[in-house]
Amino acid sequence: MTEPIPFGDLRRQIAALREEIDAAIARVLDRGWFILGEEGEAFEREFAAVAGAPFAVGVGSGTDAIALALMGLGVGPGDEVITVSATAIPTASAIRQTGADVVFVDVDDFRTLDARALEAAIGERTRAVVPVHLYGQPAAMGEILDIAGRRGLHVVEDASQAHGAAYDGRPVGTLGVAGCFSLYPSKNLGALGDAGILVTVDEKLAGTVRALGNYGQPTRDQAEAPGRNSRLDELQAAILRVKIGRLEAWAARRDAMAAHYDRALRDLDGAGDFRLPAVRERCRHAWHLYAVETGRRDALRKHLAERGIETLIHYPTPVHRQPAYAGARLGPGGLGRTEAWAARTLSLPFYPELEDGEIERVAGAVREFFGK
Ligand SMILES: *Cc1c(COP(=O)(O)O)cnc(C)c1O
Repeated sequence: MTEPIPFGDLRRQIAALREEIDAAIARVLDRGWFILGEEGEAFEREFAAVAGAPFAVGVGSGTDAIALALMGLGVGPGDEVITVSATAIPTASAIRQTGADVVFVDVDDFRTLDARALEAAIGERTRAVVPVHLYGQPAAMGEILDIAGRRGLHVVEDASQAHGAAYDGRPVGTLGVAGCFSLYPSKNLGALGDAGILVTVDEKLAGTVRALGNYGQPTRDQAEAPGRNSRLDELQAAILRVKIGRLEAWAARRDAMAAHYDRALRDLDGAGDFRLPAVRERCRHAWHLYAVETGRRDALRKHLAERGIETLIHYPTPVHRQPAYAGARLGPGGLGRTEAWAARTLSLPFYPELEDGEIERVAGAVREFFGK
């Protein structure tokens, strides 16, 4: 029996970094300071440098980064925020946490927010748009920024899956007024627990978000807004400082793995309804996920599972189909592409520690399914 290939396996990454992580944890324990300290400050500086942004604020999660950015911009009850339904549920939960209503629009050929659908959906109450760089693919930011500029909307990027991605040479997260990154363990840069970070070009917004995440207190014993508790703790920051040094090498490995899958499956692309992931022009894809498409998705998934290969679907049920968002307004063109794609997408095993031989095995099993 050949070894199973898991969809993800963080033990492989941790094993490679174990001594450095142990040392980072020991450093924090020896210091005896756990919330809002020098590790967090250092990580914010290091992340800002990597992200090409002047300011970074560590928070409790990627969801909180989006919610606090919108709150910091004054978005709240009575407002509408436009985003995609083809995303992880937290994009929508973050919007709803502000008290604003979420409006869902369709995706374009690259599975990210469709700029024309955005323009068509803007209403009297629309205050902001949250494009999602899904799977690591930058959204059509040129068009989105142009529309948002003309119509007076804030652009808050959900870059939770796109650490290191770039649009037209500019790092994602720095195109809108704020960029929100999840540091959930399995993301391209992940803590060993919950964490998130927001980057911005707006110093005032950075200060507002920092205060909102600290009980609304810009300084001790002073509260300017109700706020909440959402901070990136010292242990996670120390661990993230170990990992951020690997981000470039991991990104290069992700590029090479995507190229490997592409090569191994190229002749299937367009044969029948099978599709390889398409990359938008003039963009650097962060390759968080490598998702193929076929109308025979469920049968392919079963075929791979029978050969010990684990796959996942991101995401089987679009957010507007979830009970929690049943009442949300939809863009006038409907969400046809979102619906069709949810039924066709399949994410193959994909993480830097995946070995070339494992990629070959996955690709071989896909080829076998299609009789190649
Ligand atoms: C992971 C993720 C989030 C939420 O991040 P958390 O850190 O888990 O709160 C939001 N949006 C997208 C697209 C994500 O992939």
